[in-house]
Amino acid sequence: GSADSSYDVLVLGAGPGGYSAAFRAADLGLSVVLVERYATLGGVCLNVGCIPSKALLHMASVLEEAQSLSAHGISFGQPKVDLDALRAYKDGVVSKLTGGLAGMAKARKVAVLTGKGEFADPHHLTVTTPDGKTQTVKFGSAIIAAGSESVKLPFLPDDSRIVDSTGALQLSGIPKKMLLVGGGIIGLEMGTVYSALGARLDVVEMQSGLMQGADRDMVKVWEKKNAGRFDHIMLDTKTIGAEAREDGIWVSFEGKNAPKEAQRYDLVLQAVGRTPNGKKIAADKAGVAVTDRGFIEVDKQMRSNVPHIFAIGDIVGQPMLAHKAVHEGHVAAEVIAGEKSFFDARVIPSVAYTDPEVAWVGLTEDEAKKDGIVVKKGVFPWAASGRAIANGRDEGFTKLLFDAETHRILGGGIVGTHAGDLIGEVALAVEMGADAVDIGKTIHPHPTLGESIGMAAEVAEGSCTDLP
Ligand code: FAD
Repeated sequence: GSADSSYDVLVLGAGPGGYSAAFRAADLGLSVVLVERYATLGGVCLNVGCIPSKALLHMASVLEEAQSLSAHGISFGQPKVDLDALRAYKDGVVSKLTGGLAGMAKARKVAVLTGKGEFADPHHLTVTTPDGKTQTVKFGSAIIAAGSESVKLPFLPDDSRIVDSTGALQLSGIPKKMLLVGGGIIGLEMGTVYSALGARLDVVEMQSGLMQGADRDMVKVWEKKNAGRFDHIMLDTKTIGAEAREDGIWVSFEGKNAPKEAQRYDLVLQAVGRTPNGKKIAADKAGVAVTDRGFIEVDKQMRSNVPHIFAIGDIVGQPMLAHKAVHEGHVAAEVIAGEKSFFDARVIPSVAYTDPEVAWVGLTEDEAKKDGIVVKKGVFPWAASGRAIANGRDEGFTKLLFDAETHRILGGGIVGTHAGDLIGEVALAVEMGADAVDIGKTIHPHPTLGESIGMAAEVAEGSCTDLP
């Protein structure tokens, strides 16, 4: 067909997967066009996900830490929250990063097309710009990085007091009473922010525990520290309906811990998962297979069933995490450039940026038990960490799991402040095939929280005698 322009590589969607793929392809000498329906680059992660949530979580954590200091001899006045300024801070963080991406695209001569893309055939994509004009782009190869959006519960009414994570991040006010529908990472992170700003929380979760995926011993530490934020933690319970009234959203529940009567909330956050955008890009016109749920299946080189069309990020499946998308994006770009790349990460870390943070990577203890894998475990309680005690935050622990025979590390978990910043070392150890002695004999700086990783390895080897 006829095209308005033509490129070696077309990337659909400018989230972490898409921009990483586009930049890598350009660095490898290919001509690249990046198609994004929104005005800024960065996708969910930079605009309405990872980054704005962490900007707000940072403010929440500083606020709460400052308040906690009164127990140790330093008091401030009551905090005054200026929501407009707080929002401006968060927006400033986002625009600094999205602006940076625009500059990086320009420097690499990656063409950015703003508009909604739909495939026209296996070598053409039609882009409809915000003003309604269309243009057709021809491509040699394509990388689909169209991401995901939050799942909407069909029985919840359309009301500004019922929001998803995007709405919650807008921070249009501070509710007195907030319901988190879904006790996963996104819900609990947003709950942490609103609670620090003064909201009382309820959470309803269909499964029998919050923060699924993390070992229960770690979640217990989080629960103990956070119990005071919640009026009701409703596990094994579902939301079955809601009514928008003038005085609030009245929500009804069903299940093991359901209150008999409907409960009133000022704000309801739906955080029950994310669904891929696979069905919204006319993939069939390019011959690309999309599953019933909207995912695109790919091989280890991120190739779809159509050999010159690749897919990466949330749209190819779990875990829906930015760092997974980035690595997949690099693989797809490298394969298109003729390199023999594969996505062969042994492990992908997960982090809940709550307070304390909960981070884990590789095999978890609950999985080991379930699958009958015999492990050697080393746990280092932060109550024995000089730094954690000095920080006034010694409730956490660091846990490493080793193969019982070879003593090679299989995974680990950390709960405590900055756990997310610490877990990378455990991921590196797994990727390098390190064993307990390698980790235990690595000299970590003292006094740091990171030391707890070396100590946990020594505990596993039975050689940890002097706790700092
Ligand atoms: P996305 O970031 O979803 O980007 C896809 C892009 O494609 C979007 O910009 C979209 O507009 C565009 N697009 C879609 N369809 C079209 C079309 N037809 N035409 C043109 N453009 C299109 N992950 C972490 O790793 N760490 C975190 O701390 C974290 N926090 C999160 C907090 C929240 C509140 C949320 C919602 C998510 C969070 N995530 C986090 C998940 C993370 O945001 C995603 O895993 C990541 O953004 C996925 O990247 P992606 O490139 O696959 O797609």
